[in-house]
Amino acid sequence: MELTGRVIYAGESGYEDARLNFNTRFAASPFAIVFCQSVTDVINAVNWAQTSGIPVRVRSGRHSYEAFSVADDALIIDLNDMEKIQVDRSKARATIQAGAELVPIYETLNAQGVTIPGGSCATVGITGLTLGGGYGLLARWKGLTCDNLQSVEMVTAAGKAIVASPSQNPDLFWALRGGGGGNFGIVTSLTYQVHSIDKVTVYQLSWNWSEIERVMQFWQTWAPETDDRHTSILKLVSEAVGSVFVVGQFVGTETELRQVLAPLLTLAPKSVSIETLPYIEAVYAFAGLKPDYPKRLAHWHGSQTKFKNASDYVARPLSAAGTMTVINFLKQAPSKNVVLQFDSYGGAIAKIAPDATAFPHRQVNFNIQYQTYWTKPQDQAAHLNWVRNFRAAMQPHVTGGCYVNYCDRDLKNWQTAYYGSNWQKLKQVKQRVDPGNFFRFEQSVPKQT
Ligand SMILES: Cc1cc2nc3c(=O)[nH]c(=O)nc-3n(C[C@H](O)[C@H](O)[C@H](O)COP(=O)(O)OP(=O)(O)OC[C@H]3O[C@@H](n4cnc5c(N)ncnc54)[C@H](O)[C@@H]3O)c2cc1C
Repeated sequence: MELTGRVIYAGESGYEDARLNFNTRFAASPFAIVFCQSVTDVINAVNWAQTSGIPVRVRSGRHSYEAFSVADDALIIDLNDMEKIQVDRSKARATIQAGAELVPIYETLNAQGVTIPGGSCATVGITGLTLGGGYGLLARWKGLTCDNLQSVEMVTAAGKAIVASPSQNPDLFWALRGGGGGNFGIVTSLTYQVHSIDKVTVYQLSWNWSEIERVMQFWQTWAPETDDRHTSILKLVSEAVGSVFVVGQFVGTETELRQVLAPLLTLAPKSVSIETLPYIEAVYAFAGLKPDYPKRLAHWHGSQTKFKNASDYVARPLSAAGTMTVINFLKQAPSKNVVLQFDSYGGAIAKIAPDATAFPHRQVNFNIQYQTYWTKPQDQAAHLNWVRNFRAAMQPHVTGGCYVNYCDRDLKNWQTAYYGSNWQKLKQVKQRVDPGNFFRFEQSVPKQT
């Protein structure tokens, strides 16, 4: 049995680039990376690793916050070269190979007048995003990325290509919608329902930082309850930056959006920008791209991005004490490179029962993302401590749930934080599809004991 595909062993030319994760806080040294070109290459890699006893990690877009898709001395089975996207407009569906990245997907679908709801960052991989849920600026309109999944092709630990769908391996299909990447097998392609889209209206409002308490309190009761076509994000930054921002997207006209925004506009923002534009231009704007961006962006090349992010879910507006905790931590931020982002839930996300898919966080108001970035090694400890202490101080005010796609090595109770009461069923599925626990990493689903 041999490894097939584009194989790069430790020490060979290209290895330094091939081993990198988007978050350069981590620098694992795998045994080799196999960039698979076909399902056969994936099967060969699984069989080779099973025979040789070398542990594997599965990788697509390399954006795991905690670098769970790489490990020292492991074989990295990488799908990023498999990136074909096929749209069947007549059946309103698209089949996407596992290695495709988000913006090329949106562009290909947009050329046919359709899209899927997904995340904002251009180079996030579709597979990691979908397996953990997939939140973005169409989420309150059409749900999470995983909610739009129709079927998945996957290679098992036994080296067999199988399908998971409502009629084939339905328990696995349930687990692949929110059960997290890297747990059950190697996904090779995913088929989604697609939605017609043309123009959208986007906005950005800002206030002086001194207005933070008023804006925060108002946004929490307003954003999760608005029209389902509207998804809103509150961006809180350090006091030193000096402003607070609300950004969002609405699938409709400016006139309609202005009605949605009217209550928020009574808080008299210092700047208001509202624009109706083709959907793909909104994608570029939220990804921080210009339309002529190079096809393969690969953010991590030459980037020194080191970061620590974490998350919490909130089910009711923060109390006065919770609000003051947020304000105090933003006042004491270790640098200007911190963001506290509130992502609005409700809408289509909440119309699915918490146990209907493996993604349990359906009945919440919003997700909090704690984000810190730095480049110099001497700045690391202060940023890590800020996130850790901030999260700890927020625990009386949050649900205890965390988003698996914002994975966090610091979580002690990650099993229930990520999966809630779906944890038991996930272990049963694992027992059935991977009884030898071949696919494992620091926070992987174990088999039922
Ligand atoms: C800059 C940035 C922006 C982000 N923006 C968003 C956002 O807007 N919305 C959102 O919801 N999330 C967002 N995320 C989080 C993102 O959803 C997760 O990091 C996701 O897991 C990344 O998937 P990937 O394929 O790029 O990463 P990888 O590191 O390749 O994989 C992530 C996980 O999935 C597993 N996996 C990868 N490929 C496969 C496969 N083929 N089969 C089975 N398992 C596999 C890996 O083993 C790993 O556990 C963002 C992350 C970053 C770094």
